[in-house]
Amino acid sequence: MISGIILERFIMINYRNVVIKIGSALLSNDNHDVEHFIKNICKQIANAKSKGTKFTIVTSGAISKGQEMLQVQNRPNELEELQALAAIGQQSLMRMYEGEFANHACLTAQILLTHDDMNNPNRFLNAKATITRIISQGVIPIINENDVVATEEIRLGDNDTLAAMVSNLVEADLMIILTNQKGYYDKNPDKFNNAKLIKRCNIKELQDFDISLDD
Ligand code: GLU
Repeated sequence: MISGIILERFIMINYRNVVIKIGSALLSNDNHDVEHFIKNICKQIANAKSKGTKFTIVTSGAISKGQEMLQVQNRPNELEELQALAAIGQQSLMRMYEGEFANHACLTAQILLTHDDMNNPNRFLNAKATITRIISQGVIPIINENDVVATEEIRLGDNDTLAAMVSNLVEADLMIILTNQKGYYDKNPDKFNNAKLIKRCNIKELQDFDISLDD
């Protein structure tokens, strides 16, 4: 995982098909200049894309946009409330990407997916065919969980698992998670003071970590 702003040259030299996941914390105005961040990241993506790198964005932030719009200060606990806020905030989230990418003559497409879509062979193939076509038309797919009908990412993941599934779907050679966290932890650092930052691990070691975010 890479926190902060991506290294445009690093991507362009080494990778051709990149999934970037942008977490909610980077899209909410608490202690953070969202406008500056979004301008910067969209510019870097547009530059790398103009040199031939394909991009797919997986974004969170619909709930935090909904909170801003309805002036809900603290994130509610109730799932239905979070789902409603996501539906309310989703257009505003997309408008932000659409407007910023338009400054670089890039078009975007909104895609809402669920884990069930990814696990159902027919729906997976439909999504794959559509997203592949969108990318081949030079348009940037912007994907969020369909929070109205699914709650996996709201409860557990802030779209991290969805981003991994999408990386598999588009056969990405790099997935980047942009986050306010320093990296990958053995448990949820927002809930556990003793959460340990794992700087490097191989895929076999992952199963030894307790990655449950709920307890
Ligand atoms: N799909 C949710 C969103 O866009 C995921 C992030 C969250 O749980 O806050 O807001």
